[in-house]
Amino acid sequence: MFAKVLMRRIGNIQFTYKTRKLSSKPRLAIVGSGPAGMFACNGLLRKSNFLVDVFEYSPVPFGLVRYGVAPDHQEVKNVINTFDAMFEKNRERLRLYCNVKIGQDITFDELTRGYDAVLLAYGSYKARKLGVPGCDSKNVISGSDFVGWYNGVPNAPTPDLSASNVVIVGNGNVALDCARVLSTASSGSLRISDIPDERLSVLEKTATKDIKILGRRGPENVSFTIKELREQFKIQEWDSKLEISETDLKNLIESLPKLERKKKRLTEVLVKNTGTTSGLRQCHFLFHRVPKEVVADSNGMVRELVVENTETSKTETFPCELLIYSIGYETLVLDGVPQNENKMIDMKDHCRVNMNAECPAHVYATGWCAHGPRGVIVDTQQQSSFVADQIASDFIHTRHSIAPGVDLVLNERKVPFISWDAWKMIDQQERDQGKLSGKIREKFTTFEKFLSKRLE
Ligand SMILES: Cc1cc2nc3c(=O)[nH]c(=O)nc-3n(C[C@H](O)[C@H](O)[C@H](O)COP(=O)(O)OP(=O)(O)OC[C@H]3O[C@@H](n4cnc5c(N)ncnc54)[C@H](O)[C@@H]3O)c2cc1C
Repeated sequence: MFAKVLMRRIGNIQFTYKTRKLSSKPRLAIVGSGPAGMFACNGLLRKSNFLVDVFEYSPVPFGLVRYGVAPDHQEVKNVINTFDAMFEKNRERLRLYCNVKIGQDITFDELTRGYDAVLLAYGSYKARKLGVPGCDSKNVISGSDFVGWYNGVPNAPTPDLSASNVVIVGNGNVALDCARVLSTASSGSLRISDIPDERLSVLEKTATKDIKILGRRGPENVSFTIKELREQFKIQEWDSKLEISETDLKNLIESLPKLERKKKRLTEVLVKNTGTTSGLRQCHFLFHRVPKEVVADSNGMVRELVVENTETSKTETFPCELLIYSIGYETLVLDGVPQNENKMIDMKDHCRVNMNAECPAHVYATGWCAHGPRGVIVDTQQQSSFVADQIASDFIHTRHSIAPGVDLVLNERKVPFISWDAWKMIDQQERDQGKLSGKIREKFTTFEKFLSKRLE
């Protein structure tokens, strides 16, 4: 991050469109190259004559598909092939600017002045904090930081995995992904994934023998998906169980006939895997536990987590040398974008942002930044395809005249952006390097490396 900041010497250069020329085609700026932005882009390119520029904060495209989706779920990452084909097929109409942060390198207002339409698709990337005394102790990290680290986010700090007792706070899939990666790492089964070698070697040496996954509410409220949950129960050498009260078990069983199919199947898996753990490696799913305090040693390193058991009203203390919390995300609203009372983007309808009448561009939003961090890629795809239809229909009868020289602006501001061609070069090198050890790719893990490849 430091290197990235250093490389940006943004002066007081005005954002001027030096290459402004008449064009009969409308221009769209997309903020964020995750699934939401890319699916909308794909739909729009097929249905309209828009020229599209995609701005991405990371040095590489595709958001959580690269830096969130679990490395042992490579089939989910195949969605990248669709985006690859879109960029290759639309070279004349579609440009990518990675390593460009909207709000810092270019402002949102500048985008609205330079494009006919702006689509916000910048995700929801700030983890909600645990907010209890001691939560800033060493080796207390958010699930998204841990996931980002093993997925190769550049320059991410390395957690201390010598911990034998790990506590994960949260009852969603991110918590399950963290537990599964920690439980499977030492078996060597992640070697063919795309976890960068240097990070995999840290994971493989993990001393973790005990994982507690804590839920604030009862087991009926979990947000796990069935596939991820089953995977945890199937991990060899690990005994994973829901340790729940008789009342909770009875309630789960009694609820079964009333549940819709998906929830019923999930609840059946929960019921089937209740009990008490035993053996060398154990993963306990515990409920009604509310974190109260993180206790650190004299070096500031986490050692215990104090929780309140709201079922028994007792305080419990768990040994804990690595604490991962995944209790949701906060949505950041870019400067200049209107906010509602919930501190989310103020939407006029499902896809249009409630801009004031003076705003020169049509502004839309989709994906996690528009509707909160909910749903998987398929949900995002459906929503974004709807947004693409709306944008295409809004522009049927208008004529347009703006052609921003965004390359010039970025160059003037010394922003070292990474284009589609530069990314494809990086992509090829990562794939070639990965092949040497039977992996899909060996990811670059430093900003310096991405930027040096850009200059080759
Ligand atoms: C850990 C994790 C695992 C997941 N696993 C799965 C899975 O296995 N299967 C599945 O279907 N779904 C999975 N999901 C859900 C899926 O990732 C989301 O549904 C999807 O990524 C949301 O898409 P998005 O485009 O809204 O956000 P993102 O994917 O977050 O994309 C937003 C992009 O905007 C960029 N950006 C942010 N701010 C700026 C800015 N100021 N300027 C420019 N660019 C910016 C970000 O860098 C990012 O690339 C997972 C989610 C997480 C968190």
